[in-house]
Amino acid sequence: MDFNLTGIQATPSNGVQHVKVLILGSGPAGLSAALYAARAELSPLVLTGSELGGQVSLTYTVENYPGFPNGVGGTELVELFQKQAERFGAKVEFDTATAVNLSQRPFEITAVNKKYLADTLIISTGATPLHLNIPGEQEFTGRGVSYCATCDGWFFKDKDVFVVGGGDSALEEGIFLTRYARSVSIVHRRKELRAGAILQSRAKSESKIHFMWNTVVTDVLGDEKVHGLRFKNVESGEVVDRPADGLFIFIGHQPNTQLFQNQLDLDERGYIKTGITMETRVPGVFVAGEAGDPHYRQVITSAGMGAAAAMQAIRFLESQDRI
Ligand SMILES: Cc1cc2nc3c(=O)[nH]c(=O)nc-3n(C[C@H](O)[C@H](O)[C@H](O)COP(=O)(O)OP(=O)(O)OC[C@H]3O[C@@H](n4cnc5c(N)ncnc54)[C@H](O)[C@@H]3O)c2cc1C
Repeated sequence: MDFNLTGIQATPSNGVQHVKVLILGSGPAGLSAALYAARAELSPLVLTGSELGGQVSLTYTVENYPGFPNGVGGTELVELFQKQAERFGAKVEFDTATAVNLSQRPFEITAVNKKYLADTLIISTGATPLHLNIPGEQEFTGRGVSYCATCDGWFFKDKDVFVVGGGDSALEEGIFLTRYARSVSIVHRRKELRAGAILQSRAKSESKIHFMWNTVVTDVLGDEKVHGLRFKNVESGEVVDRPADGLFIFIGHQPNTQLFQNQLDLDERGYIKTGITMETRVPGVFVAGEAGDPHYRQVITSAGMGAAAAMQAIRFLESQDRI
């Protein structure tokens, strides 16, 4: 990866750096926010967090981001986002926020390397799909293991795929996969699904969908890509290997919002509550991308929210006569 992590040049006093726009997260939302704030000449500062480029940098190819008719590598795409933002003066720093104080102005953000004061804060810390943590899962991510049917379903035309999970997401994504796959087997550790009744009856009436009850996946098998899965029946203890082309894991998403728990309104799953203007309950603090979005979870939607959050931050600063 050819990320150019530029150290910020402004002179900090007492190791504290004051910026007009601080952006937490270097995924599509954060880097798009940085582009818009930079073009407004606000010299935004992006803290990357530990996952440079965000979730999309984990994927081999992105085929649903407009402007790339032949697809684009996930890492390459966010690298382009970063270069474009930097061209207009955004700075990207390898640092992770560990505490925030949103009750004072400017806001105070403590990070691993230093403290920051920010007139506006854009939270684009994303979310993390929950993993099974089984052998082969990480190795084959992007090569048969996926956490996103909208993103990767197309690669499984006429293939046999397995979906792990028993909630709404698992069934919604499983039904979506029937557009492409020859068969979709839903693997659930219990005998009953958690998903809503309508989704359950839709899934059960879909001829391509099969259910494997009381079953867990214990291993992903393959060489260059996934060729099979190992299953264990949790009641009988029986272990079987079956051929498989893909494994889709939908056991939940964890928004990276723990830092804001007592300072912003979060929903019951931990997503920061917001609306179309990306505002939070604290004026001057905005959220963009998956940290506030349990619905769409795409590069393009996250990038769009990043742009909107930056535009609102610009308006906020204008209203305060700070630009
Ligand atoms: C394997 C995989 C494949 C995918 N494929 C596609 C695809 O083909 N097409 C598509 O549209 N979508 C795809 N997605 C979904 C897409 O990647 C996400 O919707 C998108 O990345 C969300 O962007 P975001 O900026 O909101 O958050 P993220 O991408 O999650 O980025 C969050 C950022 O916040 C940073 N961060 C977290 N905590 C802190 C902190 N305390 N301080 C500072 N920074 C912090 C992280 O380091 C990271 O940089 C895929 C997702 C996965 C997992």
